[in-house]
Order: sequence, then structure tokens, then C-alpha cells
Amino acid sequence: MRYSAFEIARQALSGHKGWPRAWGDATPKPRYDAIVVGAGGHGLATAYYLGKNHGVRNVAILEKGWLGGGNTGRNTTIIRSNYLQDPSAAIYEKSRSLYETLSQELNYNVMFSPRGVMMLAQTEHEVRGYLRTAQANALQGVQTEFIPPARVKELCPIIETRGPRYPVLGALWQARGGTARHDAVAWGYARKCAEMGMDVIQQCEVTAIRSRNGKVTGVTTTKGEIDCAKLAIVVAGHSGVLADMAGFRLPIESVALQALVSEPIKPCMDVVVMANTVHGYMSQSDKGEMVIGGGADGYNNYSQRGSFLHIEETVRALVETFPMISRLKMLRQWGGIVDMTGDRSPIISKTPMGGVFINCGWGTGGFKAIPGSGWATAEMVAKGEPGPLAAEFGLERFREGRFIDESVAAGVAH
Ligand SMILES: Cc1cc2nc3c(=O)[nH]c(=O)nc-3n(C[C@H](O)[C@H](O)[C@H](O)COP(=O)(O)OP(=O)(O)OC[C@H]3O[C@@H](n4cnc5c(N)ncnc54)[C@H](O)[C@@H]3O)c2cc1C
Repeated sequence: MRYSAFEIARQALSGHKGWPRAWGDATPKPRYDAIVVGAGGHGLATAYYLGKNHGVRNVAILEKGWLGGGNTGRNTTIIRSNYLQDPSAAIYEKSRSLYETLSQELNYNVMFSPRGVMMLAQTEHEVRGYLRTAQANALQGVQTEFIPPARVKELCPIIETRGPRYPVLGALWQARGGTARHDAVAWGYARKCAEMGMDVIQQCEVTAIRSRNGKVTGVTTTKGEIDCAKLAIVVAGHSGVLADMAGFRLPIESVALQALVSEPIKPCMDVVVMANTVHGYMSQSDKGEMVIGGGADGYNNYSQRGSFLHIEETVRALVETFPMISRLKMLRQWGGIVDMTGDRSPIISKTPMGGVFINCGWGTGGFKAIPGSGWATAEMVAKGEPGPLAAEFGLERFREGRFIDESVAAGVAH
């Protein structure tokens, strides 16, 4: 069914009792052309573009928990594409541009809000880094600019630009960056996948990967054995566990990253601000809560909680830059398990097992990449080889020392 103002009016006549479910509860079939493990944003987008761009529709998306219940439903939704290296700028900008029309494409309001994202420069080192990024972005066709402190204050009056330790010396500003509703991105893709005849199967954990002569034949799940010709592993923080099932190792560390929101207050900030030197970032949600995040835990774990220490560190850092938040109460806090690579860039790659592909390593910043990553991963799964967007993100780069170093753009920021 197409969602529209007309349909809302029509459904109102029957007391809104006639809306069909956005996606059904599918029972696994014995065999699929392709299985995607993980119904987060990246897995669902991979399945969607497999169907839409490549006509591969006999597809199942297997999720051990509930759809979007991983990092996709736990992140702080910052969308930007101001990365330094060319392969990163290309995939993140593709993604950001797909976000611009995603609501129309999915016929589902993902609430993309291109309100503008600024990354504060609070040391001379950061000024130099962001000036360099702005130049690189100009060459890559990504629209960013380095703005002076007065413009920072104009765009975000609640910032204390003179700061006690770190005055604001300027910022890298991307006017068409912003936020989107994270759940809606997952739900919108899931609905479209179901519409194309794909099976979105929740509460279905993959526990083993089966193969013959080095080629995948299927998976063992908590809902039984399912055969497939191709398998895409898209499980973020659990990538190491799935890679282990397929018999290879990944250069990935899984750590907890957390976020928190304040009590809701009146609108006071209509841009996203990242203060990487003091190590925190903030935006205001449509409900009025201040959405706050900071750094990841310094040790590996799978706990989906995050340590208390980081709440204190992050809030202390942000109070320096936004003194007015010192009087706000924290409403809730949560964590997700992010998959970090050494060069802070993702992996979109074939693997040592034939027919198995992997998409992971988005670390603290993969929400913004969902449409572009799904596009690129679908192309790789359908054609058997990575296309132009994914070509540089193969696993072999770690063996060959061909790193895509984004530690400035992504090490702290999101
Ligand atoms: C607190 C926090 C803040 C963040 N802020 C931002 C931000 O502002 N901007 C940004 O761009 N990014 C941000 N991120 C990062 C972003 O959330 C992730 O990079 C992105 O959501 C990863 O999506 P995914 O689909 O790969 O993973 P997920 O959404 O985690 O999906 C993977 C799914 O795989 C499932 N799974 C795992 N193992 C199995 C199995 N064996 N069988 C079946 N299913 C399995 C999981 O249950 C999960 O649902 C943040 C992350 C966190 C935690």
C-alpha cells in the first residue's frame, strides 16, 4: 500500500483499522538466492538495493533480535560526508545524497533534517586539519567550508566560543549535513524489502555457516537450516563472531559506545555540533531532548551498555562548550557495540569463503552511510566483485598496508 494524505483520509473512515502490517512475520523458506545476516540499516539497505538495482528478490534478511535493535536504533543519527580521503568522501557523499530523497523513495518519512553539522576547531592543530579537509572536500565535490568563530556563534548562539581551556577558533561546516530518524530508516527499508517479496525474519540467530569445497551452501539458525547461493554478513559489532563461523579473522575490535539524552527543553539549537577536542557532541531532537554522545570505551566487550565513566567525561567536556546544559537532568542513557578498524574506515569485501561477503567496520559513524553502503554492498553481492564505491574498502588493504586513514574525521566524531 502506498502511504499518502489520501490514504490517511480513506483509512480514517474505517477508524484506522484497515492499515496492513508494514512487513509480515515470515517463516524461512528452505533456500534463497541470497541471505543477508543482520537487519540493521546496512543489512536492510543491502537487501533493498539488491532487489531494486539488481533484480535479486529471492532474499531473506535474518535478525537474531528485533529489526533495527542493534546500533541502527541506538545511534545519535548524525549525517555528514566531510571525510578526508577520496574513497570515504565518495561513499559518504553518495549516502548523504541518497538521504536527501530517501523519504520519497521509500514512501516512508525518515525525517531527514539537513540542519547543518559543524565540527569545532579548538586547537591550532584542528584548524590546520579542518582547513585541509575543506580543501580536499572542494576537490571531491563535497560542499563544506571553514567558518570563523563569529559565524559559529551566529549559527549556534548557545556555544561559549571563548571557552575556559579551548576557545573556538573556527569550525568545519557542512550545511547539508544533519540528522534523520534512525528507526524509520530501518522500518522504511524493511517495508520496501517485504513489498518486493523478501522475507524479513526476526528472532532468527545464525549459529553456523555451512560450506562445500570452500563455497557457502547455507546457514544454521535458531529457526533451522537455510540454504543459499550467496551470503552477506552485515552484523556490525558481531562481525568477528560471524567471520569465525566462516573460518576467517577480521582486523576488528568490538567496543561499547554510548549516548544519552537530557530532559526535553524548548528549542535552543538547530544545528549539530561536534567538539572533538573536549570530546563530545550534541544536537537537539524534535522532542526537545539534547542528544549527547562522546567517546567509545577503551576495552573490548559485547555488553551494549557502556561504562559510567564516559557519561561523566562526556558531560564534563560539553559543559565547557555549552555552559547552559550544566543545569539539565539526564533522562536516559544507552550503549551499542561498534566495530572498529585500525584505520577507522569500513570493510566492504569478498571473503576467503566463496559466495560470502562482508560489510562491517563502520565503527562510531555508520548510520550516515546506510544508503550508500547498502548500494555498494548490493552491487558487490549481485556481481560477485566490488564496484567503484566499494573497491578500496577490501580486506586485502590491511595485508597490503593500503590504509584509508580517517582517524581525524572519524576517530572521535560520528
Ligand atoms: C551510541 C552510538 C552513537 C552513534 N552515533 C552515530 C552518529 O551520530 N552517526 C553515525 O553515522 N553513526 C553513529 N553510530 C554508529 C552507527 O550506529 C553504526 O555504524 C550503524 O548503525 C551500524 O549499522 P549496522 O546495520 O551495520 O549494524 P546494526 O544496526 O548493529 O545491525 C546489525 C544487526 O545484526 C544482528 N546480528 C548480530 N549477530 C547476528 C546473528 N548471529 N544472527 C542474526 N543477526 C545477528 C544484530 O542483532 C543487529 O540487529 C553510533 C553508534 C552508537 C552505538
